[in-house]
Amino acid sequence: MISAHNDGKTGKSPNGSATPGRAAMKLYRLGGNNFDTRYSRAVLADDAEPPIECPSCHRMLPRQPEKLQIAWISGRDENPLTEIGDFTWPCGLQFIVVRDDARITVAAAVPDAIFKKVEVVGIAQGSGRIHPADKTVTLPSSGLPLWWLTSEHVVHLDIDKSGRRPENCCGRCGRCDWVVADNAPVVVPTSEFRGATLFRVHEVGAPYFVTEPVATWLLQQRFSNLQVKPAGFVA
Ligand SMILES: [Zn+2]
Repeated sequence: MISAHNDGKTGKSPNGSATPGRAAMKLYRLGGNNFDTRYSRAVLADDAEPPIECPSCHRMLPRQPEKLQIAWISGRDENPLTEIGDFTWPCGLQFIVVRDDARITVAAAVPDAIFKKVEVVGIAQGSGRIHPADKTVTLPSSGLPLWWLTSEHVVHLDIDKSGRRPENCCGRCGRCDWVVADNAPVVVPTSEFRGATLFRVHEVGAPYFVTEPVATWLLQQRFSNLQVKPAGFVA
């Protein structure tokens, strides 16, 4: 199976072939329940900075914006949108948005969490960001502070133990297509961590991962619209 760089496939194996040693710390992937209609849906509204195209391989390289702009949209089935989850996912797994109360809780327990302000804006029909059948809505709680949860930590995989093989690597931007074995675990060498508890994995791309103690703590908080799934282990 060939996976695109940012598709997050590695996290889809909660019962997968991760076979850590007895003392190995497990790693977990953070995700949202994007199809749970109890929670309002958001999309990125910032069209100002499109992805950068690599002139050599023509892969699109995502930018990290200075600030995040999101818009709330209605469902195509016209369901009323009233509840904003503790966590919101305006762009797949790439950006995590949390409510202010969730920020305060997370900040107390996850030392490397970084929070940046989120702006809630409307976006026009036809902007390309939303389906023509969707429409931007103003939610009662849109005035609440929202925060973009991120981390500066990026670690590298143990590629062999992670069941991956790079193909078609670009000499200019360094990106590759990754052949990923079914249920392949995310395996990260201990030496990569340097104290990270919330991090991304360079070879996997968009999703954020957490260490086992943070995963356990997050599950205890019962945050809404957050999934914490086993993804691999530290080797
Ligand atoms: Zn390239």
